[in-house]
Order: sequence, then C-alpha cells, then structure tokens
Amino acid sequence: MTAPHLLIAGAGIGGLTAALSLARRGIASTVIEKRTGFGETGAGLQITPNSGRVLDALDLALPLKRVGVSSHGLTVRRWRDGGSIVEMPADAARQPTPFRLLSRIDLHTILLDATRAMPNIRFIVGRGVEDVRQDEAGVTVALTGQNGGERLQGLGLIGADGLWSRVRSLAGDEAAPAFTGYEAWRTMIPTASAPHLAGEKPGVTLHLGPRRHAVHYPVSSGRQINLVVLRQAQEAREGWSREGRRVALREHLAEAAPALRQLADAAPGWQVWSLFDRKPAAMAKGRIALLGDAAHPVLPFLAQGASLAIEDAGVLARLLAEHLAQEGAAGVPAALAAYAAARARRVARVQETSRENGRTFHLGWPWSIGRDLVLKRLGPDGMSNRYGWLYDWRDAA
Ligand SMILES: Cc1cc2nc3c(=O)[nH]c(=O)nc-3n(C[C@H](O)[C@H](O)[C@H](O)COP(=O)(O)OP(=O)(O)OC[C@H]3O[C@@H](n4cnc5c(N)ncnc54)[C@H](O)[C@@H]3O)c2cc1C
Repeated sequence: MTAPHLLIAGAGIGGLTAALSLARRGIASTVIEKRTGFGETGAGLQITPNSGRVLDALDLALPLKRVGVSSHGLTVRRWRDGGSIVEMPADAARQPTPFRLLSRIDLHTILLDATRAMPNIRFIVGRGVEDVRQDEAGVTVALTGQNGGERLQGLGLIGADGLWSRVRSLAGDEAAPAFTGYEAWRTMIPTASAPHLAGEKPGVTLHLGPRRHAVHYPVSSGRQINLVVLRQAQEAREGWSREGRRVALREHLAEAAPALRQLADAAPGWQVWSLFDRKPAAMAKGRIALLGDAAHPVLPFLAQGASLAIEDAGVLARLLAEHLAQEGAAGVPAALAAYAAARARRVARVQETSRENGRTFHLGWPWSIGRDLVLKRLGPDGMSNRYGWLYDWRDAA
C-alpha cells in the first residue's frame, strides 16, 4: 500500500506547520507555493503558549529559543504620557510554555528547515493552485504556470493559501475580503538605535490612543525591535503592502508619548498594510480543508492570526492520522468534517474578541477613561484570567 499523500496550497506558517505535523505522523504531502521566494522583513509575531505547545510538540523548542525572545509580559500604556495602565506579567507557573516574540522570517525559516529535513514532504515552488476536482478516491489539482495542464493527485487538498485564498473560492466561497478601516505601519528597528528602552524588561508594550494604537517588542534574540502603529484609515491603499512616508507617520504619532515617538524616529523605513477581514468559511468541504487566514483571517488586536493557523494545523494532522488509521483513504472527508467541527467555536471566539479589542483599544476621550479604569481594576491577575481561555488551549487529543 502506498503512503497517504495530501496536497497543501501555501507555504506560509500554517501550510508549513501542517506539512510538518502530517509528516511526523507518517503522512506525506506536497506543498505548493506560488511565490518563488520566501523572505519577509519588517514584521514580528507573538507566538503565545496555545500555539507554542504545538510547535514544541514538533521539536522546535530549541531553535525557537535560539532566535526568539521570551516575553516577561505585557505593559499597557497611555498614549500621551506613556504612563502604565496595567501590566500582565507572564506567569511561568500557569504557562510553562513561553510567550515567544519572534521575527516572522525567523519562524518561517525554522519551519522551512524542519520541513525540508523530512523525506516525506515535497515542495513545488513558483506555481499556484489554480483548480481542484474531487471524487470518491481523492483530489486532482491543476497548477498555474507555463506548463499548463500539470496535475497533481492526493487524498485531499489543504488550502493554507492566506487571506486571498484561491482554494476558498474553489470550495465555493467567492465573497472577497473587505477593507476593515484599519492600516498597519510596520517596521524593525535595531535595538542599538533605541538606547532609551535599554533598561526595560523584554516584553510587549501596548500604547492605547484615540483611533490608533502602537505595539512594540524585541525579536531576533533582542537585536531588533518590532514596532507596529495601527490606525484607522478612510480607504484601503492600492496593493496592501507599500512604503510608508515618515512624515505621515510622524503626524499619526504627533500626540504620542516621547518614548514612543523617539522609537519611531529611529525606524529605518515603514511598510503599510491595509487590513482586510472576511467572515469565517466552512473549514471543510468533502476532501478540501481550509486553515489559517484562508479560513478565518483575524484582526491583529489579539495577535492570534499565526497562532490560530498553527493550532489548526496540529488539530487537522491529528484527525487525519486517526481517521486514516481507522478507515484508510475513505476516512479523509470524515477527518476534515471533524476538524471543521473541532475548530468552529474557537476561531469564531478569537475573531470576535480581536474585533472587540479593536473597538476598545481605539476609544477616544472620555470613553478611554472608563476603559483605563476597567483595565486598572482588573490588575495583573484579572488580565491573566481574562485571557486564560485563549492561552490555556490544548488540543483535545
Ligand atoms: C500587523 C500584523 C501583526 C500581526 N501580528 C501577529 C502576531 O503577533 N501573532 C500572530 O499569531 N499573528 C499575527 N498576525 C497575523 C499573521 O501574520 C497571519 O494570520 C498568518 O501569517 C497567517 O498565516 P497563513 O499561513 O494562514 O497565511 P499566509 O502567511 O498568508 O501564507 C499563505 C501562503 O500561500 C501562498 N499562496 C497564495 N495563493 C496561493 C495559491 N493559489 N497556490 C499556492 N500558494 C498560494 C502565499 O504566497 C503565502 O506564502 C499579524 C498580522 C498583521 C497584519
């Protein structure tokens, strides 16, 4: 009998974690990535314990420790004077898995190295998934590219192809992502250029302002600081990633605390992303599954988009392995249906909580006073309890 073989569209964080999780369970895959290069600069990721546990189970704890920063916690600050509103220290007793602060390219490289070391993962790069047909035996996927007509076969197709997912459209969901009214300005600053932050414990700092907020944290073993300024905007810019003008950014931060402005002034350049949202999709249709942003893009107010993609990948691989072991190839649709059912409530809750945070983070005066009072009264313990459901997550296995 030949080994079961799945097709995965997209070599982002979700697609690579899925390939690795499947490979570790003896399931082969072909990862199809439409880009020819993988590099992405200027972005950090908070990988919280819920998804960190999935990565640790894939034996990635050591490489993650080498390039990541273990966060001491979160400090929420006022916009104008930078005064602390509340802190949420990382609680090692409750969460032995660290809150990791990583540059996106570091995490992606770790996943890429791990997947390339697995003999049962194959890559096709520079070709996209264009079409898919499914029948009782499996799926046939057509690829884009000059050798038109090339087809691949597998037991199923996992669409991990991001916000503008082609697989999602092929599964019947044609509604396009909608602009959210937010844009994110992102940069990486050499830590040596921000000596005024030198005494701070490594952690996440969140500045809450009217119609905007900023978040910064160290990444790359502490050599760089990831800074994101997220503001409300009238319309989406053409293309969703472009260079941001320094003078415009200064205007957005005109009334911010001096320490934040000083940090922003040290930025070598800015990338601006218009943020789009999409309703959660049905995560399974027959032999096609969706994961990560393809299934449920998340606004970055809870820092959970990549974490959800990693969780999805772990759950999907487990269920596929269980159903394949019991029912053979015929078990794929049931595995994918079980995956969709297992994930539905959690992803909806994370999406909704992220939106809710967006509304409260950006409140203007006088509503911001009430918000700050609530946060103060919650205190460190109240904050930890508030997010317990999120960070305590474990796969039901
Ligand atoms: C400002 C900002 C800050 C964020 N901060 C955090 C954070 O702190 N923590 C966190 O967890 N998340 C964060 N996120 C969210 C996170 O970046 C995304 O949710 C995550 O990267 C989604 O991963 P993915 O693998 O689903 O999709 P992607 O990373 O988008 O990967 C999709 C891949 O599919 C490929 N592809 C597309 N179409 C095709 C096709 N037809 N065929 C083959 N391949 C295709 C693409 O080229 C790409 O490589 C943040 C997002 C933003 C905007």
